[in-house]
Amino acid sequence: MISIRELRFAYGSGFALDLPALDVAARERVAVVGPSGAGKTTLLNLVSGIAVPDRGRVTLDGTEIGALPDRARRRLRAASIGFVFQEFALVDYLNAEENVLYPYRVGAGLRLDRAARDRARALLADFGLGGKTRRRPAELSQGERQRVAIARALVTRPKVILADEATGNLDPANKAAALDLLFAQATDTGAALLCVTHDHELLPRFDRVIDFAELRQAA
Ligand code: ADP
Ligand code: MG
Repeated sequence: MISIRELRFAYGSGFALDLPALDVAARERVAVVGPSGAGKTTLLNLVSGIAVPDRGRVTLDGTEIGALPDRARRRLRAASIGFVFQEFALVDYLNAEENVLYPYRVGAGLRLDRAARDRARALLADFGLGGKTRRRPAELSQGERQRVAIARALVTRPKVILADEATGNLDPANKAAALDLLFAQATDTGAALLCVTHDHELLPRFDRVIDFAELRQAA
C-alpha cells in the first residue's frame, strides 16, 4: 500500500532525510520509533504528500504521490489518507463533530452525506465524546482533543492511516482504547497503518516495529 524508494528530502535549514526503502502492506500495522528530531514527522509528511521529495518516490496503492499536481495530490490525500497530527491541528472555531467532518470541507470529491455524519457521531461516541460533540477544542481537555483528531483521521475510512505520536497525551486506559479503535478501523477497511510512537508498552501490538535510525542508516 505504501512504498518508498531512494527517498531524499532536505529542508532549507540543512536537515536532510535519506531513506532507501520502506514498504507497508495493506492491513499491516507498523510502528516507527526513534529520537526526537530524527525526521519521523518529515517522513509522514512525505508519505501523505504534504511534502514532496527532492529525489526518489513514494507510491500509495500504485500512485506516485509526489508526481501529482497540487490539486490532485490534495484530493488523493483527502480521499485516501487519515493523518493524526502530532499537534492535532484542530480548527479552533469548529466544534468536535465539525472538526471530525473537516476532511469533507476540504476534500473535493468527498461527499458529506448522512452516512459520513453518522460515522462522525459513532466515532466520537466510541471515544467517549458522545456528550461533547458541540464543544470547541478550547472547551476540551488535551486528551479529548487528541481523540477528536484521531476520529477525524478515521472518518473517511482511508486506505492509509498515518499517526504521529497519536497516543502521546492519553492516559494508559485511553491509549489502549485509542489504539483499539485505530486497529479495529484498519481491520475493517483493510488500511495500512503507520504509527510514530514513543509508547513502548504499545509496541507488542504492532506487526512490525521499525527503528528509524536503522531505516536511515540502511542508505
Ligand atoms: P521528529 O518528528 O523525528 O522529531 P522532524 O521530522 O519533525 O523530526 O524534524 C526533523 C528535522 O527537521 C529537525 O531537525 C527539525 O528541526 C527540522 N525541521 C522540521 N520541520 C522543518 C521545517 N518546516 N523547516 C525546516 N526544518 C524543519
Ligand atoms: Mg515529530
